[in-house]
Amino acid sequence: MEIILYIAAIIVMIWSIAVQGRLNRLVKKYSQEEASSGKTANDCVREMLAVNDVYGVTMDHVGGELTDNFNPKENKIYLSDSVDGGTSITAIAIAAHECGHACQASDAWLPFKIRQAIAPFAGIASKISVWVAIAGVFLMYLASRSSSMSYELGYWVCTLGIAIYSMVFLFYLVTLPIERNASRRGLAAMKQCGWVSEAQLKSAKKVLWAAGDTYAVALASSAVTLLRLLLLRGRGRRR
Ligand SMILES: [Zn+2]
Repeated sequence: MEIILYIAAIIVMIWSIAVQGRLNRLVKKYSQEEASSGKTANDCVREMLAVNDVYGVTMDHVGGELTDNFNPKENKIYLSDSVDGGTSITAIAIAAHECGHACQASDAWLPFKIRQAIAPFAGIASKISVWVAIAGVFLMYLASRSSSMSYELGYWVCTLGIAIYSMVFLFYLVTLPIERNASRRGLAAMKQCGWVSEAQLKSAKKVLWAAGDTYAVALASSAVTLLRLLLLRGRGRRR
């Protein structure tokens, strides 16, 4: 089991590098190609919101590249340096994707609501869970050397760490379909509103799917970590 998990971790790492490389390549390539309509990403956002009967969503600028996001609390779409005012296939595809998230929020789409509910905990969970689990294993180790210490305590502390980490896994599990859905909504609008040509739509799909693959990698990586923690607890138990 241990060796399988090591191999899985290495595969996920190589996969992650490949996905990131492909995403960077595609983003760059289609940043250089103007969309056939000549519209800006901002125009497309306004049009997509109107077509979907979504109101009250505003736009703002965020520094950096690929930092675009939709903030449901502020009901605001943030567009990054090259997307804000951009007219390339990449700019329009990314803006349409973020707009897809705004539509999910407006529809009160259940997976989106679930992610909103667990997002604050997932952030904290990812920081503390592994340390809690390791502390549990350490307590189990101490108990194996001293008869005065309770083995059960370590076991339960470790289980607590694993339970907290499950929140991280759950977060990525729900994030992947949300990201794919936002891309699907964006691509549907791109087609419906005719912002890009038929061939350009295929290019846009490549960019958005590559971006979504990064969430698939994150999900796989969290699954491997979860299994490693379970294995760690099992090893503590054998001592
Ligand atoms: Zn997204």
